Amino acid sequence: MDDTFRFADAFGPSRIIHIHRPGVGLKAIVVVDNTACGVAIGGVRMAPDVSVEECFRLARAMTWKNAAASLRHGGGKSVIFGNPRMAGKEKERVIRAFAASIRDIADYVPGPDMGTDELCMGWINDETGRAVGLPGAIGGIPLDEIGATGFGLAASIDVARTFIDLDLKGARVAVQGFGAVGKHAMRFLAEKGAILVGASDTSGTLADPGGLDPSALIALKDAGRSLRESAAGQKLPGDAIIDVPCDIWIPAARPDVINEGNVKRLNTRLVAQGANIPCTVEAEGALHQRGVLVIPDFIANAGGVICAAVEYQKGTQKAAFDYIDEHIRANTRTVLEDAKRKRIPPRAAALALAEERVRTATGTRRWR
Ligand code: NAD
Repeated sequence: MDDTFRFADAFGPSRIIHIHRPGVGLKAIVVVDNTACGVAIGGVRMAPDVSVEECFRLARAMTWKNAAASLRHGGGKSVIFGNPRMAGKEKERVIRAFAASIRDIADYVPGPDMGTDELCMGWINDETGRAVGLPGAIGGIPLDEIGATGFGLAASIDVARTFIDLDLKGARVAVQGFGAVGKHAMRFLAEKGAILVGASDTSGTLADPGGLDPSALIALKDAGRSLRESAAGQKLPGDAIIDVPCDIWIPAARPDVINEGNVKRLNTRLVAQGANIPCTVEAEGALHQRGVLVIPDFIANAGGVICAAVEYQKGTQKAAFDYIDEHIRANTRTVLEDAKRKRIPPRAAALALAEERVRTATGTRRWR
């Protein structure tokens, strides 16, 4: 028999809500994982193959990310079963029906995720009065356009490099997934003198040990074109980004891209996790054994949710950048110092930090 409470542990999930509106073709799940730190914030993912387990894991990741960033927010997530490329009118109907169904789940604030965007958040806000990642016209801060997550990732790298005596000037960087996170991280690193030696997207890898021009590649991507269309560098298959010798390797595409089968191929000193769960547990362990420093995803890539939380408080873009810079730098330093002192992997130190914050917040609550 299926066990309804199979995900239950000391932290949550507080609620798992199943939504089914056959007349609209809406099937969705909302997981409110933990609200000790405040109202849960987490994205709405639309994909045909989502699941309750995926939703729970993503909600839990948000609990840790929000707590680690000292946000007054707990973790939640929702998934809508469906093709995100469905016709605009149909998508609006499904998203609005979803929004109407979560109107009373007041301790969950939706944000954009895979398959949803600021327009979808606008519809949800219209139905419920609460969403983040809104269009600028109604008070949103365009976090992907301004590169909030890439900015935080670069700040995190700037702290982590001091733990391995790496100078950013001349540091060689390889970026897997030259999208919103990857290209902006590179833009901020290039400002400090780092050199892009490899970049990839779904079209393949571009590599040049002498350095690629990040601005030219960003302009190409911003024009809706792919890296393969660039005349620069050597053109290699997508997977070849893993072999590019570098000092800093940035995964900024998909989960589990580094696993037991390919972790040996990475030739780098620092892995800064822009993507969520880009390394399997085994691969991350192997990197730690080899002395490769890994900055865990929920510490390094919190820029986006910080920006969303600042937007929720009606703060400015400048306030968002200031918060990201201060908190991601401080957290990276704390986590890496802790890991060094206790001789534990950075992820273990990061989890301990987040769990401690959630426990402290829980202690202030009447209903625990
Ligand atoms: P995006 O769609 O803007 O960019 C992703 C890029 O990765 C694209 O250029 C795409 O071509 C490329 N890509 C996809 N599959 C690839 C593959 N197998 N190999 C190489 N490249 C591939 O997405 P994004 O917003 O930059 O998000 C990237 C990752 O970062 C995701 O895992 C996302 O969950 C995570 N993340 C994003 C944010 C944010 O603020 N956008 C915040 C935290 C975490």
